[in-house]
This record gives sequence, C-alpha cells and structure tokens, in this order.
Amino acid sequence: MLTESGEILDCKLRGKFRVQELKSTNPVAVGDIVRIELEEKSASITEIEKRRNYILRKSVNLSARMHILCANVDQALILFTIANPVTTLGYVDRLLVSCEAYGIKAVVIFNKMDKLESDKELQKLREFAATYSQIGYQVIMTNAKDAKHRDNLVGILKDKVSFVVGRSGAGKSTLINLAEPMLKLKTSDTSGGEGRGRHTTTYAEMFNLSFGGSIIDSPGFREMEIYDIRKDELAHFFPEMLQALPSCKYKNCNHVNEPGCRVRAAVEKGQISESRYHTYLGMLQEVE
Ligand code: ZN
Repeated sequence: MLTESGEILDCKLRGKFRVQELKSTNPVAVGDIVRIELEEKSASITEIEKRRNYILRKSVNLSARMHILCANVDQALILFTIANPVTTLGYVDRLLVSCEAYGIKAVVIFNKMDKLESDKELQKLREFAATYSQIGYQVIMTNAKDAKHRDNLVGILKDKVSFVVGRSGAGKSTLINLAEPMLKLKTSDTSGGEGRGRHTTTYAEMFNLSFGGSIIDSPGFREMEIYDIRKDELAHFFPEMLQALPSCKYKNCNHVNEPGCRVRAAVEKGQISESRYHTYLGMLQEVE
C-alpha cells in the first residue's frame, strides 16, 4: 500500500477482516483507503474506510462469492477490441451495468484501431460506437501504441481515479504506458506477442499519474459476471431503457414477452439497440 507520505509498504491483514467480509474473495481491494499500524518490520491494516463505490464481479473460484475489482474510483475505462482478443459487446454491457449500479462514470475505449482488417470492420465498429454514444457514454477510438493519442487520454485521466478494465491482451498496460511512459509496465507484446492471451498483470495495482490522478491496472478476465444486482432493477441500469419502462402496461414488467411492453416496442422501432437488449435478456437469466 501507499502511505500519505508516498512510501510503499507491505501490509498484512488482521484476521478479523477475513471474517467480516466473508462474501468477498478479497477483503481489501485496490483503491481502498486503509488505516495501518506500524510494527517492527512490517505493518498491519487495522481499518478499511467505507467505500464510496466499487465494481463487483462474481468470483470464478467460488460461485457464491464475489470479487471486488476496485474501490473508490471516479471512472472506469472499459476496453473493447474487435480482435486479438475478441471482446463481445455483452462483456462491455455487463461492465457498463456494474458502473451504472454504483454511479461510476464509464468510458468505452475502442482500442487497437490499427488492427482493423477491412472497411467493413471499421463500419461495424463505427456503428457500435454510435450505439454507445447515443446512450450517453463517452466513446473513444484509439490505438494505445500510437503516441499521437496521448493528449486525448491524458485529458480523460487528469485528476481522476481511473480503473482500466478489459480482457487479457486488450491493451490495458499499453494504454497506461501511453498515459505515463515512465511506468514501463510489462505488456503482452513484450512478453511473447499478441493473440496468445498471456496474463501479464496478475494482480490489480494502482499508479499515481504525474499530471494528476491515479490509474488502476487489473488482470484481464474472460467473462464478466455481475453480482448483487436484482432482476427488478436490472433495466434501470440500461440508461436507454429508463424513458420507456415507466410506460410499460405492467408495473412488474420484465420486458421479455409481457403485453404492452414499451421497452420491447422501443427495440422494435430501433430506439434501443438489439445487441443491448440481447445482453439485457441474457443478464436477466443470470440474475434469476
Ligand atoms: Zn416492459
């Protein structure tokens, strides 16, 4: 952990925290503000301050538990890549829902724009980007390896606590290196080439940025499974559904096949994207 004076300390966790937060596989998360007690050769965490927000994910190890991906952040930078690795829109949507649930601003970053193989692919990507911008999300198209994209990125990160999330190999470390070249984080490119899905970041870590703010690098994961979101509130975390859902005929409408559903009508009219609605239906099954 990082002390107020800028010192990096290895800290142990006192036993009681493991009991207090049984539901989480990690009692202390990256971004947590903690109190410590200095001991002769080490330090112990004695208190974790109440988190102002966090992003949770269902743990892959023990299905009943969750993993806290990060805590106390201002924004999440969600990486989308069309290939190497393929990121599905459902993956992005699940992260967006998690951000909505805890009031965290989300920025969708279409990375590896240099890897597009055809105009058709570019066209597809532009359509995806338009879908998310219309909902109100900030979308940027970039290539984290190209220094000319740095100014834009610095503008987004300045003075904020940002969490970078995406699949393994999507370019999280490369993006952080673009913002702060001094960090020289190891990337999948430097450890054996792209497309091999190598895990280079094995634990989440926060770095201070020289221009103000801090950034969290995290290990990539293949599937994003939400945790702690109820079926009846799910649609509220799709901002484009908010306008339609109060007009549904039934108050407890799940927007699946109920008569007089305004959300489904909006999908049919093209006001809500089919892919987002498809994710919604998939998530509804998962929370049941
Ligand atoms: Zn409905």
